[in-house]
Amino acid sequence: MISAGFAMEKLNVGVIGATGMVGQNYVRLLEGHPWFNVVFVAASERSAGKKYSEAVAGRWQMTSPIPESVKDLMVFDAAKVGEAEGECDFIFSAVEMDKERVRALECEYASHGMPVFSNSSAHRWTDDVPMLIPEINPRHLDIIPAQKKNHGWSRGFIVVKPNCSLQSYLTPVYALIKEGYSVDRMILTTLQAVSGAGYPGVASLDIVDNIIPYIGGEEEKSEKEPLKILGSIKDGRFVNSDSMKVSAHCNRVPVVDGHTACVSLGFKEKKPSLEEILSIWSGFKALPQELDLPSAPKQPIIYIAENNRPQPRKDRDIDKAMAVVVGRVRPCNVFDIRFVGLSHNTVRGAAGGGILNAELAVKKKLI
Ligand code: NAP
Repeated sequence: MISAGFAMEKLNVGVIGATGMVGQNYVRLLEGHPWFNVVFVAASERSAGKKYSEAVAGRWQMTSPIPESVKDLMVFDAAKVGEAEGECDFIFSAVEMDKERVRALECEYASHGMPVFSNSSAHRWTDDVPMLIPEINPRHLDIIPAQKKNHGWSRGFIVVKPNCSLQSYLTPVYALIKEGYSVDRMILTTLQAVSGAGYPGVASLDIVDNIIPYIGGEEEKSEKEPLKILGSIKDGRFVNSDSMKVSAHCNRVPVVDGHTACVSLGFKEKKPSLEEILSIWSGFKALPQELDLPSAPKQPIIYIAENNRPQPRKDRDIDKAMAVVVGRVRPCNVFDIRFVGLSHNTVRGAAGGGILNAELAVKKKLI
């Protein structure tokens, strides 16, 4: 921990996978963060040993320059966990590699005393690892003492984020459930941006002037992950919710940033009117807003009434790119209601969401 020069002390953080699409967003978003300070960056052995600015030369995808505080940091090989020990209070993980290796690597950082906030899907189905959207299931962090005990970790632990597209629709759905409107059916069609595939991602000749109606593994994630997030903790393990059936179509579309979801919902019994839905969404606030976490959007769900919104280019950056923007709320002829949701996939759905998870863990004194 370093002193910021006044009462507030900043935590020293490491980013592994710092050179990739999500890692670059961590580096960008953490510049000037009031609580966190990037002191350690790591990636594959291809980047190791280079200055950060050299490692990302020709592939820096952010519109702002590389932060001065990071550009000269040496990139370490993420596999050499010992290099981070003693340097980092905790780690953001944005590595893209074989899931078995990610699982082992993240456990190793935790076993070396460094909590890990991960963007990878590797640990999403590990029994004692919370899959967190702080506006929905902040209480899932209550499992951390059990997780540490299960592994014999004294200080380290692992928290993961869900798939990036879930952010576009799950918080608005949860807001209705929280008010007693039990959703039991959901059909969603996602329109997912190319940045979701990392860099260089989808070949331009495949995606320009085109839509690809398949993203490996995404439909399964969209159908299963909400059930863990809406589930509960029993005997130190997560028990999935069985309240809802989900059917997903996931498409890659020629948009740079911003995942859109077209959603139809069916309610079990009581159905909200369209006016009630808008009132619930506009009044929705959760723990990140109550705690005034630095990365929390002031209003987590923003409704835009124009019938041609939300649109990725116009709406993805609203409120630090951390809000979910919804529109086109109307009756559904097959289920009960339908709407369109949008969120920024590499911010709310990735690095910004990971930072919000860490801020919540700090406030809960887990770090
Ligand atoms: P990416 O652009 O392909 O970046 C991958 C990163 O992983 C790079 O820093 C790369 O380092 C590093 N890496 C690759 N092989 C490695 C190895 N063997 N050891 C250590 N580091 C290695 O991918 P991304 O889009 O940033 O995604 C990163 C993770 O976040 C993935 O698990 C992805 O599923 C998840 N995610 C992505 C999004 C999104 O919108 N893009 C959203 C949510 C979650 P080098 O530069 O040295 O190769």
